[in-house]
Amino acid sequence: MDPATNLIHASASELMGSTPLVNPVYHSVKYCPKNYAHFNEILKNKSAGYIYSRVANPTVRELEMELAKFQGREDALCFSSGIAAITAAVMGLCKSGDHIVMFRESYKPTRFLVSKFMEKFGVTSDVISMHESDRLESVLKTRKTKLVIFESPTNPVVRLVDIVSLTNLCKKHLAMVVCDNTFAGFSHHGQFPIDIFVHSLTKHACGHSDAMGGVLIASQSVVDSIFPYAVTLGATLDPHAAFLIARGLKTYHLRTKEASLSAASLATWLSKDGRVERVRYPGLESHPEFNLCQSQMGGDGGSVICFDLLGDMEKFFDRLKLFKLTPSMGCVESLVAPCYQLFADDLGPALAKESGITEKTVRLAVGVENKMDLLADLEQALRHC
Ligand code: PLP
Repeated sequence: MDPATNLIHASASELMGSTPLVNPVYHSVKYCPKNYAHFNEILKNKSAGYIYSRVANPTVRELEMELAKFQGREDALCFSSGIAAITAAVMGLCKSGDHIVMFRESYKPTRFLVSKFMEKFGVTSDVISMHESDRLESVLKTRKTKLVIFESPTNPVVRLVDIVSLTNLCKKHLAMVVCDNTFAGFSHHGQFPIDIFVHSLTKHACGHSDAMGGVLIASQSVVDSIFPYAVTLGATLDPHAAFLIARGLKTYHLRTKEASLSAASLATWLSKDGRVERVRYPGLESHPEFNLCQSQMGGDGGSVICFDLLGDMEKFFDRLKLFKLTPSMGCVESLVAPCYQLFADDLGPALAKESGITEKTVRLAVGVENKMDLLADLEQALRHC
């Protein structure tokens, strides 16, 4: 069955002979087993069942199984945010003395997690540029790296990683590969030998800016090894948020397809406009990884566009009406964000510039409004800045 159909007909449990069309929300924190023997069987994982919501909750569990299937892996663990999912993966797999590699052109809080937070626990790291493939190989060779974490497309400058080359290199040096697949989404990258996927469910999965969540998706053995750490970290997904995310998933394909189509049109229009420069969108032929976008993501350039504004930033942001000034992406509303202060001020101007970000770099996260309305909004803001 097509994944879009599967998501709409996600399984629901029978209730006195009838099946609810929509899964109920189990708010109950506590679950009472049949008897003492059953209680012990659940604790020892010998019998299916629930006892306490931080460990497992039926609404969250349904979502986990749906997301694992969607990404094409055996199991998943949900969290209260995307960054909690990444933290659980890193803390669950690494111990003092281990080494992590990640790319500088990635989400700022993940850089902080890897380079500052984990340093406190004796885990070292190299945060290198994704364009230094020789350096990557020499680091992997000398440091016996445990994890390589990457995004593709990256946040915010939408560069793509050659996943075949990266995973080959990592396998050769016995490093596990973690892919933050938030920008690409669940329909992409399942075919590659990636050990762990993480997603911020706050974005495309929820889609309506009203729930936060994160998920880690992997093989059964990897999920089982992270599970005790995840439960102890305690960043549990609330069942009501799980319900909202599950509801958002039913229109996932419609929303992401529409947003990608609009983003492709807007990127093409912007690339011909003299009031902006360096328009970056993976579906544009001028993008350095255009061919990779065709082969790796079936030509789907996603819903995020980056460009450098020639005019005045304050006037541009204040003129926009439909594009709302706020972080995040993957929701029905179109959003706009200045890149330097949100994503790169920790790097400083020189390194940020090397990573493709200046104080004039703008990120658009395209939603599902009528694309002609979005274009008119950009046009009037560009005219006045
Ligand atoms: N990964 C990427 C690529 C993101 O863009 C974000 C948030 O913007 C996150 C992870 C973190 O997600 P959350 O805000 O749900 O913690």
